[in-house]
Amino acid sequence: MMKWPKSSRLFKTAGRYIPGGVNSPVRAFRNVGGSPLFITRGKGSKIFDADGNRYIDYVASWGPLILGHAHPSITRAILKVIAKGTSFGAPTEQETELARLIVQAVPSIEMIRLVSSGTEAAMSAIRVARGYTGRDRIIKFAGCYHGHSDGLLVKAGSGATTFGTPDSAGVPRDYARNTIVLPYNDSEALSRCLRKDGSKVAAIIVEPVAANIGLVLPEPGFLKTLRKLSHQDGIVLIFDEVITGFRLGYGGAQEYYGIRPDLTCLGKIIGGGLPVGAYGGKREIMEKVAPLGPVYQAGTLSGNPVAVAAGIAMLKELRKPGVYVRLARKGEKLASALAAASEDSGIPARVNNLGSMFSIFFGIEEASNYEQVLKSDRELYRRFFWAMLERGVYLAPSPFETAFVSLAHSESDLDFTIEKIIETFRIIKT
Ligand SMILES: *Cc1c(COP(=O)(O)O)cnc(C)c1O
Repeated sequence: MMKWPKSSRLFKTAGRYIPGGVNSPVRAFRNVGGSPLFITRGKGSKIFDADGNRYIDYVASWGPLILGHAHPSITRAILKVIAKGTSFGAPTEQETELARLIVQAVPSIEMIRLVSSGTEAAMSAIRVARGYTGRDRIIKFAGCYHGHSDGLLVKAGSGATTFGTPDSAGVPRDYARNTIVLPYNDSEALSRCLRKDGSKVAAIIVEPVAANIGLVLPEPGFLKTLRKLSHQDGIVLIFDEVITGFRLGYGGAQEYYGIRPDLTCLGKIIGGGLPVGAYGGKREIMEKVAPLGPVYQAGTLSGNPVAVAAGIAMLKELRKPGVYVRLARKGEKLASALAAASEDSGIPARVNNLGSMFSIFFGIEEASNYEQVLKSDRELYRRFFWAMLERGVYLAPSPFETAFVSLAHSESDLDFTIEKIIETFRIIKT
């Protein structure tokens, strides 16, 4: 059994200087109890903690590390540029290269602006949609997370769910009033809402595959309905592909499902593990962004040369043939092992899987929206999480997060993980 004396000590010290000892709430392990691991390094599919333990990592920094930790191509790209200066606040040729790579990859993006986080990308996309339409209201779906900007922090899944405070303190009621929240996968509710208020809505923002309440797939026709109805009312359709972009395929969820949104938010993978976000889409809409248009948006470190170099190296790896087939095969292998373990042990669970993403919801049969997911058995997940961790498998410390497989996960990593899944299901039964 693993012991974590050093991590516990580091966590205590951190708590003296940093709220909750962490710089992002879900890292604090509140939803599984206990003290978080302090990580000292990562290599490929593995991470190592301060006590010298080794784990197969399925958190992958919450999505970005689709090549695994410290991938040689990315490390090399970073080292090559970093000695030439870390930030200029002036344009570089490499920003255009990353922009061009993204425009060529993602079907609906004609122009793109780089920012420094997914939060910034979603916040800015909403502002552009409002500037473009001259309307104030937006529609989002319960459980979809679009970063922590004021108007989007309503029924926002993951972190917020974990702490049972879906609406954050400090968000003015006036902000939230312009945000309409509808159930995910409910075309009928959307249609009803738009019949009444369609002409007042600037944007519909959605995670095309919801991955911040665990993994929840769009039901057939849902995304198509979004496209059709938003078009009818002149509403800007925003796909938040901060997770699915370059994860579900090289062209993201929009390529996978064959739906073209008006704007797209990106983040996570496109930074190769460094802080990057981006938003882009139709030229006509993006031309509203300053200095071309009246919608202001800026960033001191936007297009940072080190992050951009990492992003370019990442995309060049991902456009190699066969990448997404290999990723999906790995994801499916683990998802079917989880489903089989549930079946064999008699512990009911719903396993959702798409490509290299999967999640397990204990004690429920259906997981296609926020309400259903909230009924899952958190205590069973807690036991599952700790038993897996003690056996060297690092899963998300919350039942409302998605697991990510990377190209670095080898067949023997997967077989080891499956062996531990089977053992763990035997234990948590009691
Ligand atoms: C992670 C995430 C964000 C926020 O990105 P940050 O870089 O954490 O600000 C926005 N949307 C989705 C779908 C995400 O998963």
